[in-house]
Amino acid sequence: MRYEPPLFRPPSEARSYIIQATIGCSWNNCTYCHMYRSKQFRVRGLDEILADIDSAGEIYGHRVEKVFVADGDALVMDLATWMPILAALRSAFPRLRQVSCYAMASNLIDKGVDRLRQLREAGLSLVYIGPESGDELTLRQLAKQPRPSGVTREDPYVFDQHVEGSRLARAAGIKVSAIFLLGAGGVARSAEHAHGSARLATAMDPEYLAALTLTVVPGTPLARTMERRGWTLPDTAGLLGELRTFVDEARPTRAMFRTNHASNYLPLGGTLPADGPRIVEVIDLALAGGIQLRPEHSRGL
Ligand code: SF4
Repeated sequence: MRYEPPLFRPPSEARSYIIQATIGCSWNNCTYCHMYRSKQFRVRGLDEILADIDSAGEIYGHRVEKVFVADGDALVMDLATWMPILAALRSAFPRLRQVSCYAMASNLIDKGVDRLRQLREAGLSLVYIGPESGDELTLRQLAKQPRPSGVTREDPYVFDQHVEGSRLARAAGIKVSAIFLLGAGGVARSAEHAHGSARLATAMDPEYLAALTLTVVPGTPLARTMERRGWTLPDTAGLLGELRTFVDEARPTRAMFRTNHASNYLPLGGTLPADGPRIVEVIDLALAGGIQLRPEHSRGL
C-alpha cells in the first residue's frame, strides 16, 4: 500500500487496514485543524487505489476484518469511485465486517439517503463525524462546515446540518460515531459549548460518542486568534467541567462513549445515558483531586 503522510485514523481503527483513497480534506478550513494543511485535496486515481487493495488482499486477505478509508472526508468521493472500491474490498478481504471513513455533515447531505443506502449495501457501515461542538456560535467560529447557498453568515445552520447528516446516515443503515472537542468554545463560550454539545449529541443520536480535548496547534487560524485576540483555552478543571456537563446532559438512545483519545486528561468509557451517573461520579472524583490525570507530557494530539 502506498501512503502519502501524514495519515490519521480514529483510535478505534487502530487494528483496521487503512486504504488511502483521498489525499487531504476537501474542506481543509476548520480553524483548529492542522491535519491536512500540508496537502492539496485530491481523489487518488481509481486504478491506483484498486491496485493497492488488490496487493493488500494478496498479503493480508484473511486477516483483515475492518477497513478505514482515509483521508479527511473520504465520503466526499462520488459513487463512481466508491462503488468499485467497496467491491474490491469485499473481494480482497473475505472476512470484512466493517468499512468506515470520516465524513462531514455536508457530505452526507449532498449524498442524500438513496446514495447513502447504495453505499451501505455495498459495505460502508460506519462514518465518523466531528461536529466538535453543539454551540452554534462556536461552530461558526471553528468554520466547521461550508455555508450552504442562501444562508447568511448570521443564520444558524451548522447544528442543524449535523442533525440532518446523522439522520440521513442512520436512515440508510450507516452507523454514526460523533466526536466532540472539549475546550472548542474557549473560556468565553465554555458553558454554551458544553450544554450545546450535549444537545447536539442527543439530537444526532449516534451509536458511538467520543470526546477529545482541543490542543491549539501553532500555525493554525485558531493559534493566531489566540495571539491576536486573547482567545484562551479553559484550564484542566474547566475542561473536566465541560466533560461533566456533556456526560450529565447528553441523552442519546444508546451510545458507546469513550474519552480514550490521547489528547484527554481522563480516559473514561461506558454507555450513555445508562452509565452517565457513574461516569459523572468519576469526573467529580477527578475534579476533587482523587484520580491521577494523564500527565501533560504524555498527552498527544
Ligand atoms: S473537516 Fe476535519 S479534516 Fe477537514 S479541516 Fe475540518 S477538522 Fe480538519
